[in-house]
Amino acid sequence: MPCPKCKNPNASNRTVCQWCGARIAPEPHLTKLPKGDTLLDLVKKGDTFLAMQIYREQTGAGLEESKAYVDELLEKVEEKRDDKKTIIIAVCLIVACLLGLGAMYRLGWIE
Ligand SMILES: [Zn+2]
Repeated sequence: MPCPKCKNPNASNRTVCQWCGARIAPEPHLTKLPKGDTLLDLVKKGDTFLAMQIYREQTGAGLEESKAYVDELLEKVEEKRDDKKTIIIAVCLIVACLLGLGAMYRLGWIE
């Protein structure tokens, strides 16, 4: 294939031009994050494998390291979910108390 820089022909299996040293082969394929998504978004969606793959490609980290990183993200996501649950339960309890008080008031149990 001809070099894009110096136009000299090169063997098709070369990744670097034998004449000028320019890069011929396309950049290695990298897994792309879906548009607008972050690694954390992927983990939230349950796409932990994809998140790991992208982290590895972007950072050059090893499998273990990537897994540890994604696990950490996963923990953060779970924590947030738990926080939300706690808030919802607390609100429900408060509403139930108010309703109960209202009912007791109407029944004349409290004044
Ligand atoms: Zn060249």
